[in-house]
Amino acid sequence: MPDACGRTFDEAFLSGYLDQALVQGDEQRVRVHLEDCVSCRALLEELASVRDATMSSTFDIPRNDEWSEAPRSGASRLLRGLGWRLMTAWIVVMIGFGLWETWQDADNLFERLLLVGGVSGVSLLLISVFLDRRQAMKTDRYGEVRK
Ligand SMILES: [Zn+2]
Repeated sequence: MPDACGRTFDEAFLSGYLDQALVQGDEQRVRVHLEDCVSCRALLEELASVRDATMSSTFDIPRNDEWSEAPRSGASRLLRGLGWRLMTAWIVVMIGFGLWETWQDADNLFERLLLVGGVSGVSLLLISVFLDRRQAMKTDRYGEVRK
């Protein structure tokens, strides 16, 4: 029966008591009542634990310098690398599948020759780009060695 304890003050006085923000007379009134009222002591403890939780959760917020990406970059780099690999595999599969479909649908030699010609042209372009890149990487490496 929490309301039958006959306290003569508002519940706000309890949190004021907790904060030691009451004037001496009120503080004494609350203390005297708390001495022989179990329910108000329980209420006070509840208020105190809620306050503790609020305080500690405030302290749990990381400081600014703890927000740095250092501990996370390893995982995110790994995921990004995995993502690129998956995407490349997906593109290769999609292009291969599309080419295979077109090859199956082509109903005469001319269309197939056209397809082969197009594919060879694109492939040669890709290979030349790849060779250029490899060449560039090689010269970069030489450049680094020379420095
Ligand atoms: Zn009471």
